[in-house]
Amino acid sequence: MDFNLSEISQKAEKQEKHVKVLIIGSGPAGLTAALYAARAELKPVVLTGIELGGQVSLTDKVENYPGFPEGVGGQELGELFQKQAERFGAVIEFDTATSVDLRSRPFTIVAENTVYKADTLIISTGATPVHLVVPGESELTGRGVSYCATCDGWFFKDKDVIVVGGGDTALEEGLFLTRYAKSITVIHRRATLRAGAVLQKRAFSEPKIKFVWNTLLTGILGKDKVEAVRVRHIDTGQEQEIPTAGVFVFIGHNPNTQLFQGQVEIDERGYLKTGVAMTTNVPGVFVAGEVGDPIYRQVVTSAGMGAAAAMQAVKYLEAQEEGIHDYSGAVKDEA
Ligand code: NAP
Repeated sequence: MDFNLSEISQKAEKQEKHVKVLIIGSGPAGLTAALYAARAELKPVVLTGIELGGQVSLTDKVENYPGFPEGVGGQELGELFQKQAERFGAVIEFDTATSVDLRSRPFTIVAENTVYKADTLIISTGATPVHLVVPGESELTGRGVSYCATCDGWFFKDKDVIVVGGGDTALEEGLFLTRYAKSITVIHRRATLRAGAVLQKRAFSEPKIKFVWNTLLTGILGKDKVEAVRVRHIDTGQEQEIPTAGVFVFIGHNPNTQLFQGQVEIDERGYLKTGVAMTTNVPGVFVAGEVGDPIYRQVVTSAGMGAAAAMQAVKYLEAQEEGIHDYSGAVKDEA
């Protein structure tokens, strides 16, 4: 979305706040950035967006975040991140940014409730699930089509459900669904999984989970709720219908960069272009987490990026105070 002057003037009645560090997004990246900026006594403000805690808060259990040998609930981990940031003075606002102007300084970020003037901005808006884009999907979303097993699994007690995808998310969520569903059929477009070895082993030894290989889901059928899916075998072209009560789609994520189109460089896949020091092409605007990370996309790497982005924001603000106005990151400074 491009910056819109009339929108700013229409919202002139909104309260205006000046902040040194504004963070958009409240997943592990945003909340860790908030922790670090708060400990630097910069009183950062975090705009939570719709999902406080980000995607991880919708995850049943996180087993690969260090420090929790028995694993930790995704929602609980998000709450712990939030508490820790708040303890040092971070302000968490349940608000959503609707437009930004990064062409003049301080930056202007218009949120639903407030207009922020920010000396630095950390973008940690995360990513949202990719849709299949097949007939029936949008019509039956919330009526059997879901993108979150933790949120919706309970509704499928003793029912047969389908999971689409072959990555870590598909298997992790498929395993979670075994608590409720009678059977889980994983439909994958290839004959080998992308998911890691541990999850594969667990899924293959789970009697409720079976796999349908080399197959595409081409349609979701049902009047008021999901009743079946249509699939096509890739090699034979053979089509068939599989009765099911639910379709859980886990085929990857799209980075949430729409708000910054035309203002910050975005790569051909839609991710924010990130320099080695969490920088963007706009000095003072930093990136953290999945919105700028097509490779790792883990809670721990997102949190690490959040810490790094906040450290860069601190350095940037110090440089400004010293009258160095072209400072764009530690790497340039220390090379
Ligand atoms: P992903 O790794 O990108 O996997 C997406 C899966 O969906 C792939 O198997 C892909 O098939 C399939 N797919 C993509 N587009 C499709 C389409 N249009 N129709 C049918 N199938 C399609 O995504 P993810 O599983 O959400 O994982 C994202 C990242 O988070 C990864 O880096 C993953 O390691 C990480 N993650 C880690 C954990 C963990 O460590 N516990 C848990 C969850 C996620 P192909 O394989 O043929 O490409």
